[in-house]
Amino acid sequence: MHRLKQQIRDIPDFPEPGIVFKDITPLVKNPDTLRLSVHQLIHPFIGQGIDLVAGMEARGFIFGTLAAWELGVGFIPLRKPGKLPYHKKSISYDLEYGSATLEAHSDAIGDGQRVLVIDDVLATGGTAAASCQLIEQLGGQISGCAFVIELNALNGREKLNSYQVHSLLNYD
Ligand code: AMP
Repeated sequence: MHRLKQQIRDIPDFPEPGIVFKDITPLVKNPDTLRLSVHQLIHPFIGQGIDLVAGMEARGFIFGTLAAWELGVGFIPLRKPGKLPYHKKSISYDLEYGSATLEAHSDAIGDGQRVLVIDDVLATGGTAAASCQLIEQLGGQISGCAFVIELNALNGREKLNSYQVHSLLNYD
């Protein structure tokens, strides 16, 4: 995990004063840490009967599609508003900085399909909790949530207390 942590770059005051942005681009640029992070993300969920991985735009797409590939399942993009062309369902929620909406296609998930939710950072947990709610509204069952980074002080895990939460790197 030390190897992964070395590849996370802290950017103070981005995108707003007071936020320390966790930049994962060095980690995904390096083939070893990219592979290691994806393997570690899926590790607890191997053999758990995952049917689909869902990832949040945009950094959840990077880790989510690779995780889906490794698990041998399909990927569902949870997108920012106005991007999806077909019938869709949306959900709005609060962020550490501002508010946001995510959308998924109405036919993205079959009834009872087991979904693993993946994103780069768990901060306040608003994004992940909303994503889980959206997936459940579409008929899916949440198998768990996995993050490369967890910002402990923001207590995001509390918003996900009915789910299995797995994170690779913890920051106070
Ligand atoms: P939250 O809904 O507060 O858990 O925020 C999680 C979402 O916002 C994730 O999609 C992250 O990519 C992004 N995010 C929140 N805080 C940070 C941060 N400090 N550094 C990088 N990304 C962040």
